[in-house]
Amino acid sequence: MQFIDLQAQYRALKTEIDSNIRDVLDTAQYIGGPFIRELEERLAAFAGRRYCITCANGTDALQAAFMALGIGAGDAVFCSDVTFVASTEPAYMLGATPVFCDIEPDTYNLSAASLARQIEAVLAEGRLTPKAVVAPDIFGNPCDYDAILPVCEKYGLSLIEDAAQSFGASYRGKRCGSFGVISTTSFFPAKPLGCYGDGGAIFVDDDALDGLLRSLCVHGKGPGGKYGNIRVGMNSRLDAIQAAVLLPKLRALEEYELRVRQTVADRYGAAFAGRLVTPFVAENCISAYAQYVLLAEDSAQRARILAHLSEKQIPHMIYYPAPQHALPVFRDVPQYREDFRSADDCCARCFSLPMHPYLEEETQEQIIRTVLEAL
Ligand SMILES: *Cc1c(COP(=O)(O)O)cnc(C)c1O
Repeated sequence: MQFIDLQAQYRALKTEIDSNIRDVLDTAQYIGGPFIRELEERLAAFAGRRYCITCANGTDALQAAFMALGIGAGDAVFCSDVTFVASTEPAYMLGATPVFCDIEPDTYNLSAASLARQIEAVLAEGRLTPKAVVAPDIFGNPCDYDAILPVCEKYGLSLIEDAAQSFGASYRGKRCGSFGVISTTSFFPAKPLGCYGDGGAIFVDDDALDGLLRSLCVHGKGPGGKYGNIRVGMNSRLDAIQAAVLLPKLRALEEYELRVRQTVADRYGAAFAGRLVTPFVAENCISAYAQYVLLAEDSAQRARILAHLSEKQIPHMIYYPAPQHALPVFRDVPQYREDFRSADDCCARCFSLPMHPYLEEETQEQIIRTVLEAL
């Protein structure tokens, strides 16, 4: 049994993926070219944005976003405490200070109330300039943008949506990848839309930002091209082979994978309701279920469940074992006054079960039975 069965997906899409890869090999257009152009158009249309700029991975997408917004030393970048380190790592590398905020106890996403408190704390101290907010749609579940956007507006902060886990999800009829001034995503193989290696993309509506990001991703190229450099940039491009792989996968995501992910989540939800804390998806929202995350009663019960799953050879993971504020890499970063009650609680009790659109009902029943045995 696989935690995420990428081989089953490849079997389903093999003819088209193989033929696309062969096209790249036959034409030797490994960088840029028609697959990249088509993918950027299709991704932008899917997300509901004017522009999509593909790049080498989701972390680079965030780094380019921070660079485009001029984020650096002396700036505060606010982010949810429950995420992958890449949400703020590039800002930290650029000299900015990540300021973590507690999460909503039901969706595990950035809490707008905690965000407002942390902005006030930074302003009261007067050492850093509040600059941007990174909102990861964690586990594929969209953030509450109707609560977060007014806070960003009130304090004049730029919102970056980290849609690495939520490509395909939507919030009140609007797709993830369309929130904030810049959205980013990742095509790491395990994400809802993954390629066969590393890949990422940036989404914007603004012409100037599109141009700036395209320059930043190719060595700060200017109108004179890659040898007429006008700023310090990165070398961050998506390979044409990855675009060739992503095109059929994007179609599958749209045509059936999101629907099947929902079916799988519904089966888990029905089986575990009242026994474990099941994922909460707000009204008019659709999760991409990058992960299916449950909360046990406490960490002791979680340990018992996971030990039983291991014994029965059922794959499982803990996303995430520690909140960001507790990571050694951020030990010198001031944490202000927030207590991270919901983030600490989530990390102490959460665990994830196999979740992908090729999970057969029979296999899922076996997973469910094994979890219930452990309770
Ligand atoms: C995976 C992930 C990233 C980084 O993406 P890479 O393509 O692995 O660099 C950023 N943010 C979140 C929330 C992620 O899950």
